[in-house]
Amino acid sequence: MSRMRACDHCGHDFHISRQLCPHCARPALYGNVFAAEDPDEVAALRGRYDEARRAAQARGAGVLPAVESFETEVSNSRAVVARPAGEFQRLSTGDNEIYATHYELIEAGVRFPSGNKWDALRPVADESLFPYYRDKIRFAALTLDCQGLPGYGQCFLVLRTDMIAHRASVYEENSVRFFSKRFRPGLDDEPRLPRGYRATWGERGKLSVAKLAEKIDASTPPGAYSGILLRPGSASEDDDFVEVHVWGPMTIRTLERVIFDKPTSRTARELTNRANKQRMAKFGVTLG
Ligand SMILES: [Zn+2]
Repeated sequence: MSRMRACDHCGHDFHISRQLCPHCARPALYGNVFAAEDPDEVAALRGRYDEARRAAQARGAGVLPAVESFETEVSNSRAVVARPAGEFQRLSTGDNEIYATHYELIEAGVRFPSGNKWDALRPVADESLFPYYRDKIRFAALTLDCQGLPGYGQCFLVLRTDMIAHRASVYEENSVRFFSKRFRPGLDDEPRLPRGYRATWGERGKLSVAKLAEKIDASTPPGAYSGILLRPGSASEDDDFVEVHVWGPMTIRTLERVIFDKPTSRTARELTNRANKQRMAKFGVTLG
């Protein structure tokens, strides 16, 4: 995985974490998207995708068309962030409230690490995937039915595709879990993580086929696709989903819709009252 890129304008190399070319100062954003566009990543994903299609074809009549139907659906999937109701309430107070990253909150002194089992691995995994720009990345999951992962909060914030498509990339699964299984330490030039497991937003259907085609057969109804793409586990390490990495800030205006894990809960009923629905409509957000 190359960590250097050439400036689109002056042609000189610099590190992908930079937001400006250090030589000519022209904008150079979205290191995660640049990493997903790396020709070695693209070729490796293409190989996995082609293999998944070949295997589907070999499983019998009707399997490949079902896999193609799944790909079409996932190519129109959305990104969803699950957060506690309090975070949604804060964002909903106005469009100057920003959804911050874990590292920004720690840096600002308003949060400290919770000491949970992810804390030891997360910084190493994030630094490996997002070298020197991990504080810019927000995490989400691909969804077909606007449902998210309730382990992270009861509010499912569905992101507006036109606000994230240019700065989002997707990853095979929870990147910390993937890292814990597949990271290869060393000082040689070989990649530390296997290639072909990250993709641009536009290629999310292909990545999902490479990962999930084996779970689809000729009789799989389209209604089952959402549960194949995103399946909450009994604990967060058991969640199975395609992870979305979004570079940069988000506000209430980045959201398209907000729904609740348990729509009949007291919190959900309070937050989806008529006044709130009208207030959110001003920001273009559908509530409930
Ligand atoms: Zn330049």
